[in-house]
Amino acid sequence: MYKEDIEIAKKARLFSWSPYSNFQVGTALRTKSGKVYMGCNIENCGIQAICGERTAFAKALSEGEREFESITVVGAPKGTEPTEECLPCGYCRQFMNEFVDENFKIISVVGDEVKEYSISELLPHSFKF
Ligand code: ZN
Repeated sequence: MYKEDIEIAKKARLFSWSPYSNFQVGTALRTKSGKVYMGCNIENCGIQAICGERTAFAKALSEGEREFESITVVGAPKGTEPTEECLPCGYCRQFMNEFVDENFKIISVVGDEVKEYSISELLPHSFKF
């Protein structure tokens, strides 16, 4: 499953619109029902960029999805392969926290190394009310 999602995230990365940062991120968001939504970062000349994680969530949520299993994230400067982990930014962590439970996995990929995190590992003591 991770293998498939890694390939999907890598494909999504190619769709990144990132002429300002030149940092391309691709994501594969898997729902509990088995559907996978692709996401990529989309920038503009203002400050309204959206990350690959929130792109995938927005696509899925706007189609009625509410139960999520994992998100796979692949990111690196344009034209290169990832040499470091690309983990969700703080804004995305808080965004995802709204919709996921402790079993949700955030998967990062560097070469053959695949790491898995829970939301509470990446967002301890999160804001909730
Ligand atoms: Zn983000």
